[in-house]
Amino acid sequence: MINPLLKELSNNFKIPPFDIIKNSHFKEAVIFSISKQNSAIEKICSIRNKPTFKNTIIPFLNSGNKLTEILSIFYSLCATSLTKERENIRKELLPKISDHFSNIYQNKKLFDRINKIPECKTNTKLNIEQNRVLYLLKRNFLRSGIDLKTEDKAKYKKIIKELGILGVNFSQNIIKDEKNWIHFLDKKDISGLPKFLKNDLKFLARANGKKGYAINLTEALLLPFLKFSDNRKLRKKVLKSWKSRGLQSGNSIIIRKTILLRQKLALLLGYKSFSHYRLETEMAKGPENVQNFLQSIWGPARRKVKKDTIQLNKLFKSDGYSGKLKPWDWRYYAEKKREKKFKFNEDDVKSYFQLDNLIDAISYSCNRLFNLKLKKVEMSAYHEDCKVFEVLKDNKRIGLFIGDYYAREGKRSGAWCSTFRNQSKVNGKRLNPIVLNVCNFSKPQEGMPCLLTFDEAKTLFHEFGHALHQLLSNVNFEMLSGTSVSRDFVELPSQWFEHWLESEEILKKFTCHYETKNNIPSKLLKNVILSRTFNSGFDTTEYLASAIMDIKLHSEKTNSNPIKLEKTYLDKIGLTKAIYPRHNLAQFQHIFSGGGYASAYYSYMWSEMMDEDAYSAFVETGNIFDKVTAKSFEKNILSKGGLKEPEILYKAFRKKLPDPKILIKSRNL
Ligand SMILES: [Zn+2]
Repeated sequence: MINPLLKELSNNFKIPPFDIIKNSHFKEAVIFSISKQNSAIEKICSIRNKPTFKNTIIPFLNSGNKLTEILSIFYSLCATSLTKERENIRKELLPKISDHFSNIYQNKKLFDRINKIPECKTNTKLNIEQNRVLYLLKRNFLRSGIDLKTEDKAKYKKIIKELGILGVNFSQNIIKDEKNWIHFLDKKDISGLPKFLKNDLKFLARANGKKGYAINLTEALLLPFLKFSDNRKLRKKVLKSWKSRGLQSGNSIIIRKTILLRQKLALLLGYKSFSHYRLETEMAKGPENVQNFLQSIWGPARRKVKKDTIQLNKLFKSDGYSGKLKPWDWRYYAEKKREKKFKFNEDDVKSYFQLDNLIDAISYSCNRLFNLKLKKVEMSAYHEDCKVFEVLKDNKRIGLFIGDYYAREGKRSGAWCSTFRNQSKVNGKRLNPIVLNVCNFSKPQEGMPCLLTFDEAKTLFHEFGHALHQLLSNVNFEMLSGTSVSRDFVELPSQWFEHWLESEEILKKFTCHYETKNNIPSKLLKNVILSRTFNSGFDTTEYLASAIMDIKLHSEKTNSNPIKLEKTYLDKIGLTKAIYPRHNLAQFQHIFSGGGYASAYYSYMWSEMMDEDAYSAFVETGNIFDKVTAKSFEKNILSKGGLKEPEILYKAFRKKLPDPKILIKSRNL
């Protein structure tokens, strides 16, 4: 039988044939596609004619299409349903893939041809897009060590390979530590918990063959548990276990090795530090700018936390405790204070936020803004839990959207957006993207709707904002499409879209009590909106602590004990003992499960400065659905992908760059 991964996709949506793809197909398909790409590149290098965009760049870009397609399927399956078998295949393939890409970007013959094509000056016929592709390609080659001496090239390759393996092991260690941890609870242990959480904990116990209740380290269970459980000892136990994930399995060694290798890589390529290397292509340009930016928010956040601590301490003492407020107390007492101030609890709110209604809210918002609609289709993707939608713009199909929303064993924690295919054009004809959103919401029990907390609803909108960036992309080359932008720009569309969930109109229209079917009462609605920045001192501080550590570790001389440094340094800069960093190093997947956000965790807040400012552009018109502003946002940002430098794209939309001060206001610091 022919390997389905190697066949041309022929179905209507060009969706991979998940039902017939077997794990055993991947190895053959990857190895075959690698060798096919190699022969295509050899052919390009052997052309005698003068190098041109048409005879060199186009065939080079096309040479990797099949491999990209296969890898996107494989990586998605690993991230959403990791099994022992897939883990082993990945282990075997990863070094081969890493070598392959290093070989391409160190291929001197290929680079010489590309380098001979003149970039847009006066004597070239390249258009803006072709010129951008050429510029980025040359930059990729240079940043991947094309100019290194032969022995240094070998060193580079080895480092990249090792980093790849370390990243995978880092995630696996966390999954392992999560998997092994479960705690069974008695009736007395569930005091204070809201109804939805009790149900979920009961369900978990039952799934493990026990009566009563159980808690594990799934975020959707653990975070509300920390907020509501009256049992201080248990809160401590749960949070401590959550924060030690990765440690038992050896992530501290991986962290040290990873940072060391990244610094080696940067030095090899002639940079002062990994941060200098990494940030060269980002909007922030260098670590000093990032440090100054983070610092400008750190002070106000600390002051807010100081004030909040005094108030929370009062509640803490009134419960008869002595001593100081601890990290396992903060969420609990903050919630108590919030309830008192705004007079609602999570159960009240959660009953109104149904996943399916919120997906309708997304479709509705996108329709008002961009004439876009989500139409559910009965189609199976790679897992029975996936919801599949056809995406229409002005009633024409522009892509396929898959929502994989429920937590399950083997799924990586957190939420993300990826693609099975990116948008591009072939001979001027649009190739529609297939976009995937993955979340970790608790799967509802039979007959129940999936209910979300307000934060989870925000995550839903956030990830769809990334999806919009992919779906509305309108460029010729896949290399430039959708989210192929610098890391500190990529969170702009996602965080920008969160604002629509928080709008009164959407909250009013799409929240309905799952039992009574009543709309959300206006007083509750008002309080939900008012309480938006209630705990912003805590949120900002825990985030900044992680972002500051990330940039410190990657911009300075390597420290022999990063875990220890984390503690002492955060102490030194005045992180209160009542708050942990959002991600302690041992489970900081953004920066250690691969290099995605390494030295770039600041990106979320950097993008937030833009998303707040971009949202203001809508508010200023008096209508957040203003079509003219939406059109400009689509034209200048969402459709452009990486066609131009981010500051140019942003200025075309807003005529100016934003000021960090906007964050102090929007976060109410
Ligand atoms: Zn995001």
